[in-house]
Amino acid sequence: MKILKFGGTSVGSAERISKVLDIIENYHKNSVKISVVFSAFDNITDQLIDLSKKAIERENSYLATLQNIRIKHLEIFDKLVTHSNKNAATKEITDHFDGLSDILKGLYLLKELTPRILDSLLSNGERLAAFIISEALKSRNIDCEYLNTTKIIKTDSNFGSAHVDIDITTKNVIDYFKEHDKIQIITGFIASNKDGEITTLGRGGSDFTASLIGSILEVDEIEIWTDVNGILTADPRKVDDAISLRAVTYQEAMEMSHFGAKVIYPSTMQPAFDKNIKIRIRNTFQPEFKGTLILKKQDGIKFTAKGISSVDAITLLRISGSGLVGNEKITAKIFDTLVNKKINTLLLTQGSSELSICIAVLPKDGKRAETAIKEALRLEIFDGQIREIEAEENLSIVAIVGEDMKHTKGISGKVFTALGNNGVNIVAIAQGSSELNISCVIKKSELSKALNALHDTLFLTDRKVYNLFIVGIGLVGKSLLKYIHDNKEFLRKEKSIELRVIGIANSRKMLLELETIDIDNWKNILDNSGQISDIQKFVTEMTELNLANSIFIDCTATEVAVPYYEKILSSNISITTPNKIANTKKYSFYKQLQETSIKKNVKFLYGTNVGAGLPIISTIRDLVNAGERIIKLEGILSGTLSYLFNNFTGNIKFSELVKTAKENGFTEPDPRDDLNGLDVARKMLILIRETGREFELENIEIENLVPQKARGNISIDKLFKILEEADNVFEEKKQLAKKDGKVLRYVAKFENEKAEVKLVSVDSSHPFYNLKGNDNIVAITTQNYSNQPLIIRGRGAGAEFTAYGIFADTLRIISYLG
Ligand code: ADP
Ligand code: ASP
Ligand code: MG
Repeated sequence: MKILKFGGTSVGSAERISKVLDIIENYHKNSVKISVVFSAFDNITDQLIDLSKKAIERENSYLATLQNIRIKHLEIFDKLVTHSNKNAATKEITDHFDGLSDILKGLYLLKELTPRILDSLLSNGERLAAFIISEALKSRNIDCEYLNTTKIIKTDSNFGSAHVDIDITTKNVIDYFKEHDKIQIITGFIASNKDGEITTLGRGGSDFTASLIGSILEVDEIEIWTDVNGILTADPRKVDDAISLRAVTYQEAMEMSHFGAKVIYPSTMQPAFDKNIKIRIRNTFQPEFKGTLILKKQDGIKFTAKGISSVDAITLLRISGSGLVGNEKITAKIFDTLVNKKINTLLLTQGSSELSICIAVLPKDGKRAETAIKEALRLEIFDGQIREIEAEENLSIVAIVGEDMKHTKGISGKVFTALGNNGVNIVAIAQGSSELNISCVIKKSELSKALNALHDTLFLTDRKVYNLFIVGIGLVGKSLLKYIHDNKEFLRKEKSIELRVIGIANSRKMLLELETIDIDNWKNILDNSGQISDIQKFVTEMTELNLANSIFIDCTATEVAVPYYEKILSSNISITTPNKIANTKKYSFYKQLQETSIKKNVKFLYGTNVGAGLPIISTIRDLVNAGERIIKLEGILSGTLSYLFNNFTGNIKFSELVKTAKENGFTEPDPRDDLNGLDVARKMLILIRETGREFELENIEIENLVPQKARGNISIDKLFKILEEADNVFEEKKQLAKKDGKVLRYVAKFENEKAEVKLVSVDSSHPFYNLKGNDNIVAITTQNYSNQPLIIRGRGAGAEFTAYGIFADTLRIISYLG
């Protein structure tokens, strides 16, 4: 025989219940002997509690809530019960609701709710559910019987969480089942005391009912049917990539459910464990899934860490003082107090110095526990033995559970590294003496990040998720999205890297989703469902999402995001950007960002600031990190200026070249932004700072190629007129150079701690002499590359090439984050 149990999540609607009926029918057809335990319909227990509170507070809206509950049950009943004796069954339900209505009227008048009355009220949820389902089964011609467990399960009078009297109950259950051969449709959760008053077994207690009856009847297996694929490595509502477990031990399941895995009620394990009966957790909506088996520890099934659970909200009591050292009496007093006040302790730690004890309790017990302990220890406080008793709120517990953790070295190291790398602060740590779990108390705001980071580290060792936030979707941003799209599959398959675009923004709209944004469709999604763009909001939401392995990509050419870089890095989010603004502000600003990124263990990469996709900055970094001292830097760092002078040969006039370049889109909209040399100077500044030197833009001497007369506020047409007038000046320079066998180049140079960007002439022995097209080039002279400098040369401009560079930096960050 098997005992099946279906939870509220499986019986939320007529459609869902039909699936349950299919499962039962299937067993029946295959002649598998079963009996089935039911919880109340989805959410009904919560609604009944709510209803009783409203009634005693004399909120008349309780009548409407009651009516909703009645309608819900009657609708399900109507859809599923079709047999000829329907009228009698309908009357049964109506009587039920009349009884319920009477209890509530009583509460309304008395304005008082005792745990005894509440249990009696709540029992209606399970009784209605099991009754309706038994009638629905009869409508399918399945011979069954409704069993109200208040008749056979006997408990003490601890209403709300009653303890079963196992001797009497065992006898009752055995006697009952001897007499009743049909499929029993059993109420979960409810029982009665020796006076026949209804009791309940604690929230989620239907699992326990199933385990209890199953173990008394010594069934082959207990199946707990719910709405997920068994027990997963973490709560699937909190961790997207949670994986179903094939098997766990009773202790592991107990530990996971103790720390919040609601999928099974902790005490459920005990009766099954005592009789060595297997429990299988199955999914009503995916019956073909074999489920997670809960069994005794066996050789041959091995997982070092099985799952991660969390208690989302706790209060931590911290008791400190020298009196705690070696004084068991005080410790005993603390625990006696908590036991007397019926306060459940979720976690306990004692510092190795024994100067403090931390106790985690549920928030509802926080104040009570604090007051009670202060009262119990008032003498010790007076004596100064106890210095402080404080309660800290808004905390959570994450617990990593697994039988074999004790044999595996380094798990706690992995846990702390994963949390540390993601900036999650550990407030307290406890490792049970059984070493079955490691639990950490952390800030509630960091729970989601912690769960995901731990899950990735412990279970997805072969797949890592990275979350991208991209602002600025102009030419560069668009190309970047395309790169991400085109490489996604390759990265997933070959490198086990999962890239997710979580946030995007352009100057008009922004969108931040916890789900991945479909980048094929970004424009539509942004236009239709985005909010008005607001960088402050974007950054705030991004940091509040608090996702592990986040990368912020600034593809704007403006200053908007720069003031937030510090906050972003401080929130353990890496940055990559082609935007030069942050790095060319005062040195102190640049330095601060570098320091924050080191302190926070994240990366701030801007390889595309100089030479787009060319590895210029990264090479300088590598050289510096390898201990090289950079002696001299020389380069052509502007694609536009490179083009202009590489092509300034023959009879062509300089102004004509500028015009052609502008027409071909090789210049900025206003060519003066190229000709004034400022952009080149900024790039040089970044390179110098990258060598480890403190340097400011003012220290760079810049030759401005825009004729003096054209520097004011004048139109582009006028600019070209003035440039034409200046043609002879450029021509003269060219001829002068030519006479010595040289050519003109606009070169940025750093040498002898001085920097300049200017038009110079170079001879054929110089590496810049033969430059072509709009290539960039940099010559790096170091101690080891002193006679022949290290040359990096290639295409160094264009949106696509820049996007390629940003993508490469993103992958660098990923390999750094590991
Ligand atoms: P039922 O109504 O069937 O008793 P519950 O809501 O009590 O269902 O428990 C099932 C829920 O437990 C799932 O929907 C899931 O969100 C949650 N849960 C939490 N932790 C885990 C875990 N580690 N594995 C599976 N489910 C979990
Ligand atoms: N219906 C009860 C509850 O919601 C028991 C159960 O679901 O197991 O707590
Ligand atoms: Mg449950």
